[in-house]
Amino acid sequence: MAILYADDPADAAAWAAAIHALEPQLELRFWPDSGAAAEIDFAIVGGRAPGDLRAFPNLKAIQSTWAGVNHLLMDANLPSDRPLARMVDQGLTVSMTEFVVLHVLDSAREGPRLRAAQRARQWLELNPVSPRTITVAILGLGTLGADAGTRLAGLGFNVRGWSRSRKEIAGIQSFAGSDGLRDCLAGAHILVCLLPLTEGTRGILNGATFAPLARGAVLVHAARGAHLVEADLLAALDSGGLSRAILDVFAAEPLPGDHPFWKHPQVTVTPHVAAITRPGTGAADIIENYRRALAGEALINQVDRTKGY
Ligand code: NAP
Repeated sequence: MAILYADDPADAAAWAAAIHALEPQLELRFWPDSGAAAEIDFAIVGGRAPGDLRAFPNLKAIQSTWAGVNHLLMDANLPSDRPLARMVDQGLTVSMTEFVVLHVLDSAREGPRLRAAQRARQWLELNPVSPRTITVAILGLGTLGADAGTRLAGLGFNVRGWSRSRKEIAGIQSFAGSDGLRDCLAGAHILVCLLPLTEGTRGILNGATFAPLARGAVLVHAARGAHLVEADLLAALDSGGLSRAILDVFAAEPLPGDHPFWKHPQVTVTPHVAAITRPGTGAADIIENYRRALAGEALINQVDRTKGY
């Protein structure tokens, strides 16, 4: 029997429908109606840390419906001796790539200047520059960074990526380690963050990271709020080091009403909607992982707790 910790009733209904469309026999309970604790052998969790999974003595594994699991790993109540799988979902990947490509293209085609010119009824004839002259540096070259980078390379951008281990991805220049970070950033015009939040990446979007970028560079940040040192971003925007930031994630979500980002003319705020898992494409891996958990096999996309992602 699996228990589903959905983010809200609509989320619960969507996951139940997608799972039962593929596996009608799979028995689901919906938190907080967990029933007899001993009957629960698998937990499906979303954006909220469930907290009470230790109450299930026969729990075999935990499946996240989110790609990022930092909120689960930070929860002291999450059983550390049970395997945890994160979500890799084609629907989510496509959605994140759309978000990144949208904002990279908008910057490359001078969207903000053209919109300002329209508001001023000004006929501003800006000649488009070739994407080959624009370098995009992507921090995190995993499932999401590699897909977005491959699409951007296909559009002609000069794409670099940074990860812990070096990659061989067509069209992307790969950098790794701390020396690699500086080389990846040097002179880049657009910085995209798609890293997991770990102790090694917390606060990585700071003044020292912005300094090697091309003057007036653009930040596209869709990873986690705690990657960003907000004061350093505001200082970089004030000084002209950065010209613009597109932020989908924040240290406090929802973003408080009095936060300076809301009204900052160079900041675009989106409310953590860059990409979400689509139950229709994500359910198959959950069902397979439930089977694997009962069989004692390694899970698909099992989180490496020593690495933190
Ligand atoms: P992933 O496949 O695990 O990829 C993570 C990448 O980051 C890997 O390339 C990894 O390097 C690299 N990395 C991790 N720690 C590093 C470090 N200390 N130094 C250098 N590189 C490091 O994760 P993903 O599926 O692409 O997702 C990335 C993140 O996106 C998630 O963790 C989540 O925070 C965020 N996200 C946001 C939204 C949204 O709507 N805003 C939606 C989904 C996900 P290796 O390849 O060498 O291991």
